[in-house]
Amino acid sequence: MIAAGLVAVVAIVWSITAFAGQGGSVSAQSNSPLPATSRAPSPSPTPTPTPTPTFNKTANSIDDSNSIWVVVNKLRPLNPQDYRPADLIDVPVPYVYAPQLRQVAATAVVAMFAKFKAETGLAMQSQSAYRSFDTQTSVYQGWVSSLGQKGADLTSARPGHSEHQTGLAIDVNALPGSPCTLEPCFADTPQAQWMAANAYTFGFIVRYPSDKTPITGYESEPYHMRYVGIELATEMHTTGITTLEEFFGLPAAPDYAR
Ligand SMILES: [Zn+2]
Repeated sequence: MIAAGLVAVVAIVWSITAFAGQGGSVSAQSNSPLPATSRAPSPSPTPTPTPTPTFNKTANSIDDSNSIWVVVNKLRPLNPQDYRPADLIDVPVPYVYAPQLRQVAATAVVAMFAKFKAETGLAMQSQSAYRSFDTQTSVYQGWVSSLGQKGADLTSARPGHSEHQTGLAIDVNALPGSPCTLEPCFADTPQAQWMAANAYTFGFIVRYPSDKTPITGYESEPYHMRYVGIELATEMHTTGITTLEEFFGLPAAPDYAR
């Protein structure tokens, strides 16, 4: 019985090998000739997978204000605090306040807005992009006046601590403007949903996810897009790590040190 079984197995294996050698697809359940459609040339054999190179987390600085990976939060101010990027340019997209960004981020925004329009027939505009130290000072003071310092700190960065001062961040709005402009409910707009799914392919991340306030120190900002480059944005998308703090193993920054 065992010998007969072995012979049967060997016969099946032989026939599988024989069919495979003819380039046909193979069914182990049947010895009958393959249907004609199955004899079409099969795709090339899957090559042996090469090990995925480990993502190099030190390829760019997270400390240098000029780095596209710079991590700025309530515990990591820009250095110097009145940093101003050297390569700011006007961004040729519709806007509420005329936007400037660093060259590389500006190019990416133009491409992202164009792709969104091509895919959906809808439009986006820039609400706010680069803000200088001085501008951020007045923005923050405005929030302090209306919300008090504690409320302001949940909504707006203190000067020297804002991603908008890097020239790599943009608050995106719908065009025409959404009732949820700069609000968490912007997440429900087609613009935000498209960006959440696609912005990484242009090098942007949603910097302040709704479930990460204890880490980023900010409430959900589905409109605040931060340019980090396609390589890092894709790696974060692939790994599902949504904050720069977690990705780089940095301390959570729920609040200022003082
Ligand atoms: Zn913002």
